Amino acid sequence: MNFSETVNCSVIHKAGWVVIDPYTIVRDGFVHVDSGLIKDVGRGSCSGHIIGHIIDYGPGALLPVLINAHTHLELCALKDKVLPEKGFRNWVENLINLRNSVGSEHLKTAAINGVKELVESGCGVIGEISTLGLTWEIVSNSSLAGVWFREFLGNDLHQDIKCYNEKSFIKSIAGHAPHTMSPELLVDLKDRTRKENIPFSIHLAESEDEIMFLTTGKGIWADFMTEKGIDFSGWNLPVETPVRYLEDLGVLDENTIAVHLIHAKEKDFEILLRHNVRVCLCLRSNFNLHDMMPDLTGMLKAGLKPCLGTDSLASTKSLSIFDEMAFVSKSFPLIPPAEILAMATVNGATALGLGEMFGSLTPGKRAAFVYVPVDVLSKSELQQALVNANFKGSCKTVLQ
Ligand SMILES: [Zn+2]
Repeated sequence: MNFSETVNCSVIHKAGWVVIDPYTIVRDGFVHVDSGLIKDVGRGSCSGHIIGHIIDYGPGALLPVLINAHTHLELCALKDKVLPEKGFRNWVENLINLRNSVGSEHLKTAAINGVKELVESGCGVIGEISTLGLTWEIVSNSSLAGVWFREFLGNDLHQDIKCYNEKSFIKSIAGHAPHTMSPELLVDLKDRTRKENIPFSIHLAESEDEIMFLTTGKGIWADFMTEKGIDFSGWNLPVETPVRYLEDLGVLDENTIAVHLIHAKEKDFEILLRHNVRVCLCLRSNFNLHDMMPDLTGMLKAGLKPCLGTDSLASTKSLSIFDEMAFVSKSFPLIPPAEILAMATVNGATALGLGEMFGSLTPGKRAAFVYVPVDVLSKSELQQALVNANFKGSCKTVLQ
């Protein structure tokens, strides 16, 4: 069912467990939905006289739909085709060559399958990064909600960009990365999203080339730019860190999503926190491409509230946020499961500017939830189960 359709009936959704949010879980719970919105949620049966029907999903758990805050559906066609073994720079080069050779129809067909995979793995909201502009129709006509970011890089100022805030899909802009675009373009793009009060996304502190270039003004990336005849003498390099660079450019605020942050340190976390920047992590992709991961423990200690993305199928095996949570849980076993669940739900909704509609099963929000067939005896067992399994083929996503 599409989000734009109104559901004019009252339905009680029941299950053995209802995860209202990662910290508020009720046993034998219900979610009362009316006209596509959550009216009430709680334990036992819904109070009051309800005209409508009851759907009992079984002894498992109903939880808010998961949020994949950073993906590239245009690269679904490249699954298992670009191997990261020869380093990140080669991977990017191979990716671009292969993407160009595949053809846009094939890229679109694979992106449609990507949407299917997202829904089947419990996802209801996405942050889609589109480099070629091929996926707007696909995502905005799907049952998903989210933000579609048209990505830019280079030096050119683009006059024809339109961004706007629609009911279920926001059309916005992403800057590729601070080392692949001029500071003028970066500031201009951020300003355009600022005017609309919508999210802006950027890959940040991801690769060693980026760090070397920004912090020294030299290295392989500087050589590459010089070779291409790109003049970066006005970029005010070197800078202390990529995060500091963006702070100096004035593009950090609560509508900026900083993605990856593999090389960010404590001082950067303070800056990100001070400006209330949203942080999105794609740990499986980082591990596969860079053999490194960001300091998630340090981020949480600093008070940041990261959300999760999968990145594309060119750098990770699936678009499933259940898989992503399982990887976080395995890699950082001391992080409580509820915090990991928050990364996959409420933090993602907030980062994408959709916190009033998604992220938890609280009254007033959209009826967008997923049922998973778990067999558990306690809340803590449930939290553990949710962040350590992929529920492939067994979860049921309800999007109204
Ligand atoms: Zn990305």
